[in-house]
Amino acid sequence: MQTYLVGGAVRDELLGIDVKDRDWVVVGATPDEMLARGFKQVGADFPVFLHPRTREEYALARTERKQGRGYHGFSVYSAPDVTLEEDLKRRDLTINAMAQNEHGELVDPFHGLEDLRARQLRHVSPAFAEDPLRILRTARFAARFQPMGFSVATDTMALMQQMVAQGEVDHLVPERVWQEVQRALHEQEPGTFFEVLRDCGALPVLIPELADSDILAEALSALRAVAQLDSRTEQRFAALLLPLSPEQAVTRAEAMKAPNDCRDMARLACHFKSALADLSSTQHACASALLELLDYADLWRREARFEALLQVLECALPEDLRARVKALQIAARAAGGVNPGELLDRGFKGKALGEAIRLERLKRIERALPESNR
Ligand code: ATP
Ligand code: MG
Repeated sequence: MQTYLVGGAVRDELLGIDVKDRDWVVVGATPDEMLARGFKQVGADFPVFLHPRTREEYALARTERKQGRGYHGFSVYSAPDVTLEEDLKRRDLTINAMAQNEHGELVDPFHGLEDLRARQLRHVSPAFAEDPLRILRTARFAARFQPMGFSVATDTMALMQQMVAQGEVDHLVPERVWQEVQRALHEQEPGTFFEVLRDCGALPVLIPELADSDILAEALSALRAVAQLDSRTEQRFAALLLPLSPEQAVTRAEAMKAPNDCRDMARLACHFKSALADLSSTQHACASALLELLDYADLWRREARFEALLQVLECALPEDLRARVKALQIAARAAGGVNPGELLDRGFKGKALGEAIRLERLKRIERALPESNR
């Protein structure tokens, strides 16, 4: 049996990037031989094993053939007679379909090195069309390697367009889409992911609210700003959906099966965006509107979330609303200083306590706001 390093590790080494995890392909072995060597089998569908010491993944060479529609239509064939080249052929992109033998020699039947040097993301074979997830993966690699000059090859883009036109993307389950979106949000240039999806026609299927070009431009500029920070998924997701109404954002987040913290951050950011735009200029109305916003965000119990929200608003809102974000920040600091325990000690109870807290917060916000924000 022979063992080869494959996929991302070979690609990243050639690009001079730190290799995170290493995947191996084993040719000419049976599962029993692997088990006899102390490997542990993982996954019931594929013959994949963990190395007894390094815990790295060793997969028996396999071929895959599409059977039905959607993601669950693959029949996997693995046997000692499956060659390395056959295994590489089932992979998505040529730069991901290179292998290295134990002497460090490159095995590259699909000219991945050439594409790597030409900065092209190119499909390995027409079988690419058998799995629509590959569209999302390609968009994600474009987002990751865009700063190094990579783009999607013209013929691959044409194939992806054809796949979308044939309805392939309609069959992706939300969980898998979310997994790719979530990863894409943390790539080097997350905006590129959505641009590639737009270019191949998948965006109107996956996130129809962003199909309009002006809205997309607004979303991507917000995302770019938030992605400059060491921001969390929910913050990046909220920036992406910032052009939408809170209702639209919630509907989309739920349809995408985004986690609750992502849905909530998106709802808050969209709500704050429109509320801040409507903020009154008279002092009292402004203070009470700000307090209402703090209540809406439940600052009192969710301080860390509120700080994360402020960060999104600070860098993603249009310039003319930034001063209002500042006012919001001042209001939060002032109102946060009210100690309900103190009011309780002063004899306030029940409804009256709630009202006393509210009035005290309001008073402090009014006092704290600078003249210019009143
Ligand atoms: P990363 O740095 O994100 O781990 P990677 O290239 O290692 O990038 P993985 O998702 O770890 O990507 O997959 C390992 C390899 O398996 C890929 O390089 C590719 O050759 C192949 N692969 C993974 N998913 C698919 C897919 N849906 N279709 C075809 N090939 C795939
Ligand atoms: Mg990998």
